Formats: sequence, structure tokens, C-alpha cells
Amino acid sequence: MATSLRHFAGLGYFPAAASSSGFTCFLRRDTPNFCAFVALRPIRPPAATVTAKASASPSTVEQHVQAVPSHSGDSSPASSAAAVPAPLRVGIVGFGNFGQFIAGGVQRQGHTVLAASRSDYSTYCAQHGIGFFRSVDALCEEQLDVLLICSSILSTEGVVRAIPFHRLRPDTIVADVLSVKEFPRNLLLEVLPPGFGIICTHPMFGPESGKHGWGKLPFVFDKVRVAEDGDQAAKCDQFLSIFEQEGCRMVEMSCAEHDRYAAGSQFITHTIGRVLSQLNLKSTPINTKGYETLLQLTKNTVSDSFDLYYGLFMYNINATEQLDNLEMSFEKVRQMLSGRLHEFIRKQIVERAAPVPADPSGKLANGLSSSPAARLL
Ligand code: NAP
Repeated sequence: MATSLRHFAGLGYFPAAASSSGFTCFLRRDTPNFCAFVALRPIRPPAATVTAKASASPSTVEQHVQAVPSHSGDSSPASSAAAVPAPLRVGIVGFGNFGQFIAGGVQRQGHTVLAASRSDYSTYCAQHGIGFFRSVDALCEEQLDVLLICSSILSTEGVVRAIPFHRLRPDTIVADVLSVKEFPRNLLLEVLPPGFGIICTHPMFGPESGKHGWGKLPFVFDKVRVAEDGDQAAKCDQFLSIFEQEGCRMVEMSCAEHDRYAAGSQFITHTIGRVLSQLNLKSTPINTKGYETLLQLTKNTVSDSFDLYYGLFMYNINATEQLDNLEMSFEKVRQMLSGRLHEFIRKQIVERAAPVPADPSGKLANGLSSSPAARLL
């Protein structure tokens, strides 16, 4: 425990921030904030807005921002603005495996993605029409509607505490995608200034399981703190609609409830996958369907970082109990097997110690064969 708690010590987050405020971003910093004059309503953006290409250049993204179609069919600028809310400016902090994956969906729904991360993803971002910033400070100057935390569970406390909230709009929504929920909920409630919205989410899929689309995959969310007055509620709905429009099965539940379910499902799945990976299972010429499933599970599990798995354990209060249950269940099954075997062998040993004379057919008086090989069948 003492060792693991070193993760909390805030070791060198975003080292580039100190040395450089420069960033690789081609988006105009003065993109008009349409929300200032648009009457925002909780409108689900139409699928037709799914036009931003993954390979679009940043300037293409900007053009798209201004070309979102109107619901009404009336092409006058005033009615277009009233019908469709302006696309969101979503800043992603932590642009690793999952940050990049989730950015794809945000862009597909026509929103602008900006990112900052400890590592340099400027080349990737330039290729995908995303503004990359070398520091979170610079990202926070970008008039974001939503700041989406996609850092590892282990680093999130340090990452969140280092956010310069004074640089953000005072009504910014801070959302997270961590695979545990009570921890970020309590952290954000503690650290964020009161005007900031908080939405805790967990997309229950990742780059492997969601690589063919997000349709019907569960998306868990908890609107922890969303102001009803002003734009925040509408922007919250607009943000959640990204996942709804991608076809996710939207599941609203409390963070505590999520953690109870996830410990008994996701943590168990990851644990079994990790255990199987220790067996170094190989494909055989006679794979059953079940075995194929296990091979796939192992592959999916180890494609996630060990930090992620450790976070599922360390930051979910229900995980230890599930690990204990798993161990007990394994022991119970082992006992069921060895108990039956012992019973059989003991019977044989006892009967051998006091042999019953065989009848002429070669059967013992207890009905068993006198042949040792036949007795084992
Ligand atoms: P991860 O190993 O959990 O997190 C990697 C991310 O954390 C990278 O962006 C990395 O930044 C950042 N990071 C790690 N240590 C850091 C530190 N000391 N300081 C600052 N940043 C640090 O892998 P992941 O799969 O990308 O997951 C990201 C988040 O998404 C996690 O909270 C996870 O629970 C959640 N999530 C993942 C999945 C999934 O299927 N993978 C599904 C749902 C939710 P750099 O890349 O810049 O180093």
C-alpha cells in the first residue's frame, strides 16, 4: 500500500508545461462562441452532423463548426442558430489509448476536439484534425465547454489538482471516463470551484471491444452536479448525446452503484483475463468455442495497461471482496474435484485392505470389477 500511494504524490505531471507554453494547434483561438447568442436547448444533434472526418485538418474542423445544418429547413442565420446548438469544444486531458479512441466519437458527432497530455501527440493530432497543446494550462485557455479527463486512474488525482481552473470558463463542465466512479466523483466535488458542472461517466467499452462501432454498448453516467439555470444543463445533454447518437445504451446510475456492479463484473473479467494470460494459452488445432472466447478475453485484457487493472482494484472499495470471493470460489471448485477423487480412492484403499472374495464372474461382492483398470473407469 505504501508503495502504491506514491502515485498520489503528484510526480512530474505534464513536464513539458514548465518548459514550453507553445502548442501545436491550428484552430483559431478566437472561434466565435455561438453559445453566447444561441438559445441553447437540450436538442440531440442530428446524425447528419456526423461529418467531421478523422483525417480532417484542424481548419476543416473549424469550417464544419460553422456549417452545422439546421433542423427547420429555414436557411436564415437566425433560425439556424436557434434550432441547432453550436458544436461543443471538448478538451481532453490524457490523450493515450482511450483518450484517442473517445476523441473519434466526439469528432464523428461534429464537435471540436482539443487535447493535452504528458506525452507528445502532436503528430497524431495534426493528422486527425485535433488541436494539441503541450500544457494543460494552454488547453484551458481555449474556451472549452467540456474538459474530459481521460488520464489513468492512478494519475488522475495529480492531473486534476494541477488543472488551472481560473483559466477555464466558470461554467465549464468537467467530465471523466475513469473505469471507477466514486473516486473521481468525490475528487471533483472536492477540488472543482462551485460553478463547474460535473458529469462522471464510464463508457463500458474500449478500443478493442468498440472497434467496430459503439452500437448497443453500455455508457454509464451520473450527472453529479449540473446547474439547471444557464447553459450548463443543455451542454450536458449535448455532451451525453454524443454517445446516444453513436448508438450506446445509455445507463444513468449513481457512482456508488456503478462501482458495486463493476467490481462484480468488469474487475472479475479483467482478473480472469490476467490469470489466463499467466498460463500463456496458445491456439490449438482443436479449439472449442469456449476456448476461443478465453483466448479473446486474454487478448482484450492484456491490451489494457496494467495501471488500468491496478486502478480497478485500488480505487474500487468493492474490489478486495470480489478478489476474496474469486479465490474462495476457486478453492471450492478444487475441493469439489479433489473431494470426489479422495472419496473414490479411499473407498478403493479401504476395500483393498479388506478384499471381498470375487464371484466366478470376476465381480467383487460389492459389484465392482476385480480388474484395477476397469475399477478406474
Ligand atoms: P491508462 O493506462 O489507464 O491511462 C493512460 C493515460 O494516462 C495516458 O493518457 C497517459 O498520458 C496518462 N497518464 C498516465 N500516467 C500519467 C501521469 N503520471 N501523469 C499524467 N498523465 C498520465 O490507459 P487508457 O486505456 O488510455 O485509459 C485512460 C482512462 O480511460 C482510464 O481512466 C481508464 O480507466 C478509462 N477507460 C479506459 C477504457 C479502455 O478500454 N481502455 C475503457 C473505459 C474507460 P500519456 O499518454 O501522455 O503518457
